Amino acid sequence: MDLGAGRYAPSPTGDLHVGNLRTAVLAWLFARSTGRRFLLRIEDLDASRVRPGMAARQLADLTALGMTFDGIPVVQSQRDEAYQAALAAIADRTYECYCTRREIAEAASAPHGVQHYPGTCRNLSDAERVERRRTRSPALRLRADGARQTVHDLLHGDVSGTVEDFVVRRNDGVAAYNLAVVVDDAASGVDQVVRGDDLLPAAINQAYLASVLGAAPPTYAHVPLAVNADGRRLAKRDGAVTVPDLAAVGVDAMAVLALIAKSLGLPAPRRLADLLSSFDPDALPREPWVFPGNRTR
Ligand SMILES: [Zn+2]
Repeated sequence: MDLGAGRYAPSPTGDLHVGNLRTAVLAWLFARSTGRRFLLRIEDLDASRVRPGMAARQLADLTALGMTFDGIPVVQSQRDEAYQAALAAIADRTYECYCTRREIAEAASAPHGVQHYPGTCRNLSDAERVERRRTRSPALRLRADGARQTVHDLLHGDVSGTVEDFVVRRNDGVAAYNLAVVVDDAASGVDQVVRGDDLLPAAINQAYLASVLGAAPPTYAHVPLAVNADGRRLAKRDGAVTVPDLAAVGVDAMAVLALIAKSLGLPAPRRLADLLSSFDPDALPREPWVFPGNRTR
């Protein structure tokens, strides 16, 4: 009997910082405390930002904290065949979009910094498409028809929203992030997605696409992010925030794990698995984790 799976899915664009590691620890705890498998996925479709060797460094940091994964990592850059098959399956639900980011920004009102696609290319005629294709290769968007979608989140409850006509294939022909995530989760049997709460809005679109592809949307847990002393999202510039940098200032991996445990209201463990006995999703802090760092500038 398959008990399902959770996953951690970093992009190999830089070293993981303590906020990323805390999210990974939470994803591991949510999965293992419910008897699920735990998978690693390398989200490297944004080739211009990927740094060679970084995926291996990230895995080494996760392993140093005591994290264990089932099976071999899924590497998105090796999965194009599956993504193209999914795109073919939804071909009658997609349309070509020739807009640049700038055009969308100019055409769309963007309340709360969220960029909504204004539907510019939704109803182009064949002749108009032929004309537009001459100047720009199109992305593909899903035709959502303003559908409503509800997702279940273990921390946020039932969250509903309107599905966007979001991009499922980039204009360079590569699968878009939102499509790859859904295809990979479905193919890997992932039924529990734990990640930063900045991705909660994306869950509406992703759960909808899962349904369109005939997969059951996963259960979500969108967890608070780590912030610096100024309340901004934690970043490399905040000083020693990665496992190698913290090791250099005398904070070893077990001490990092103890810091993360403390931030979750859990006692310092001797090893990661010790946290399983005290882990209680309902007791998790709902506020961002303030990691003051040790910035010298
Ligand atoms: Zn468009």
